[in-house]
Amino acid sequence: AGRLEGKHVFVTAAAQGMGRASVLAMAREGARVVASDLREDLLEALADEARAEGLPIVAARLDVTDDAAVAKMIGELPPLDVLFNCAGYVHQGTIFECEDADWDRSFAINVRAMYKTIKAALPGMLENGGGSIVNMASVCSSLRGLPNRFAYGASKAAVVGLTKQVAADFVAKGVRCNCIAPGTVETPSLHDRMRQLGDIEEARKMFVARQPMGRIATAEEIIPIVIYLASDESAFMTGQCVAVDGGMTI
Ligand code: NAD
Repeated sequence: AGRLEGKHVFVTAAAQGMGRASVLAMAREGARVVASDLREDLLEALADEARAEGLPIVAARLDVTDDAAVAKMIGELPPLDVLFNCAGYVHQGTIFECEDADWDRSFAINVRAMYKTIKAALPGMLENGGGSIVNMASVCSSLRGLPNRFAYGASKAAVVGLTKQVAADFVAKGVRCNCIAPGTVETPSLHDRMRQLGDIEEARKMFVARQPMGRIATAEEIIPIVIYLASDESAFMTGQCVAVDGGMTI
């Protein structure tokens, strides 16, 4: 049997990057997955791949900043065993490059959306006697600061705090809540950020230089910790932030 056999899983931002890699891996471990994302075109490609492999993945369009849509979608699903909040947005810049809209967008996507998905998923989990919530933080958070990540690092630090608060309130009711803190990971949005910086090869060198291992992670290298935290293997673990970062927080 798979490590997530029969578990009902809901994932946000599942159409590319680590979210996509995680839904494929979780379905291969026996989970029944609802993969949500903003981008319908990418969701279709994911659904095609899932169909070809015979994986039980249902793709559903969801903007995590749409409170009503979040409550409706999660409210209509059977109780979840696993909620993986993967959605996130990286604003690049110091406080001087951060306008109100950048700050608000960072907190809306990175933090507020988790508040809403967790609030929607918890009643079902509690009724079911438990569940595992996994939130996407970053090394750039309460773990450490990085240049030009003012709003991003502040919002990801809030993810660590939100994770511990949910863990503290439901620790005796079977609901666990942990977060993960990746280092730099090769994903479509990392490429966008490299492009934004102008010279893409120079930008890549800068990102590699941040990594003590001298390389960027693949999305697949981050997934084993997601599976572990989602599964009953981590039954005694809650309120933790686990870094998988190529040595960035040594
Ligand atoms: P990505 O950024 O390449 O893809 C993000 C996905 O999120 C896209 O499919 C996009 O359509 C979707 N999305 C964006 N806004 C959305 C919204 N409002 N509602 C629903 N979906 C939305 O993927 P990634 O780089 O793997 O990032 C996933 C998470 O990992 C983010 O929370 C990010 O902050 C975090 N993270 C990334 C890195 C990295 O180096 N890539 C490092 C640490 C943490």
